[in-house]
Amino acid sequence: MDFSLTKEQKDIKKAAAEFARGEFRPEVVLECELDHRFPREIYKKAGELGFIGLDYPEEVGGGGLGVMENVLVIEEFCKADSGMGMAIHLAYLPAKIVRIFGTPRQQQKFLAPLVRGDWVSAVSFTEPNHGSDLTRMETTLEEHEDGFVLNGTKVFTTNGGYADFFIVLAQEDPDAGPGKGMTTILVERDSSSWLGGKMEINEISGKMGLKMTSSSELVFHDLKIAKENILGERGRGLLNVLDFLDESRIEIGAQALGNCEGAFLKALSHAKERTQFQRPIIDFQGIGHKVARMWSRIQSLKWLNYYGAWLCDHSPERLSGVIPLFTSVVKHHVPETAKAIIDDSITVFGGYGYFLDQEVERRYRDNRIAEIYEGTVEVQLNNITRILKNLNPGFIDAELL
Ligand SMILES: Cc1cc2nc3c(=O)[nH]c(=O)nc-3n(C[C@H](O)[C@H](O)[C@H](O)COP(=O)(O)OP(=O)(O)OC[C@H]3O[C@@H](n4cnc5c(N)ncnc54)[C@H](O)[C@@H]3O)c2cc1C
Repeated sequence: MDFSLTKEQKDIKKAAAEFARGEFRPEVVLECELDHRFPREIYKKAGELGFIGLDYPEEVGGGGLGVMENVLVIEEFCKADSGMGMAIHLAYLPAKIVRIFGTPRQQQKFLAPLVRGDWVSAVSFTEPNHGSDLTRMETTLEEHEDGFVLNGTKVFTTNGGYADFFIVLAQEDPDAGPGKGMTTILVERDSSSWLGGKMEINEISGKMGLKMTSSSELVFHDLKIAKENILGERGRGLLNVLDFLDESRIEIGAQALGNCEGAFLKALSHAKERTQFQRPIIDFQGIGHKVARMWSRIQSLKWLNYYGAWLCDHSPERLSGVIPLFTSVVKHHVPETAKAIIDDSITVFGGYGYFLDQEVERRYRDNRIAEIYEGTVEVQLNNITRILKNLNPGFIDAELL
């Protein structure tokens, strides 16, 4: 067993930390936060320096690496700043589904500009009546001689306001059973690619955190899309989404990991510097133990998150079937525990922790969504229960414990 990062991984982690320190300047962060602006210029620089698409094929300019390398970058970016780190990651994460299921032509068209930091991607699965339950879509996809026609409404699409393309999950066969008959299709923002109809994009305002991203409702009115934009096998749409979620949930875990590490670093230095009753507050056991517990929890989250990423990249045959078990563990446990850690950091800051300029209250708000999107905590616990119920106890005993 070797817990060390490779030389290349250490270099990536260091480079990501340096990039974030240099680019996420406090005045830019505050401006993006208060104006609800996506930091496109920083995203572009991240692309130019190779931080986007580390797991994408080299043929499209990607790094040809894995989920683990992505996790290291996301962790460092979110450690430096939750708002910036999450907004940048969420701009390229959706395109992962094109990496997994796209044809070489689709990968060249959609991933190459994304890797350069020129394009932003989005996924549109959620609908007003279908959030946790994606086993049926009300958005329909109908085959015509010269294209596919989309009708319906999606909600909460991250990056809706500026994404260059959307991966839409739609019901192609209305008579199929639950979870079946769905297809994923690539919808471009550029209306010149449409063969008819229209797409309306309406911003949804008033989010708790994640202020540097747009959240949108998409409405498709007989929107006709070229046949070449079908993504993956027709009728396998939900399975495509679930395969994507296995990796993406590990990366959402890394957002939460970086968020709580950043909060911890601030809390540690505050606890050493702030004096009350003529002593640094870290010397009061109530605060010292809080800092110690934050540290212990972070260690457990870090290694769990890295193990999840390692499984995605290297899973031996006998463990490949249990990847969803571990992605669900990471996706519920890391954000939930990170919330508790960030909450503790607010305690360490006292009244100052309640204000924007100490950053920890923003980390708390930003982190909260990691428990919700890409499958809520409750949905992850349902997955874990279902898998554990069906696994052979001997396999659990011998291989997983
Ligand atoms: C800021 C933000 C960004 C988002 N970005 C995207 C995006 O880019 N693309 C996209 O497609 N979607 C996106 N979403 C949608 C997100 O994935 C959904 O909100 C989430 O999956 C939950 O669905 P829902 O909101 O409809 O809640 P519901 O499904 O209505 O759930 C409500 C509550 O009931 C619980 N619940 C539901 N079913 C069960 C069950 N079987 N067992 C136990 N508890 C259950 C849930 O855990 C939750 O607590 C985003 C959401 C937000 C807020």
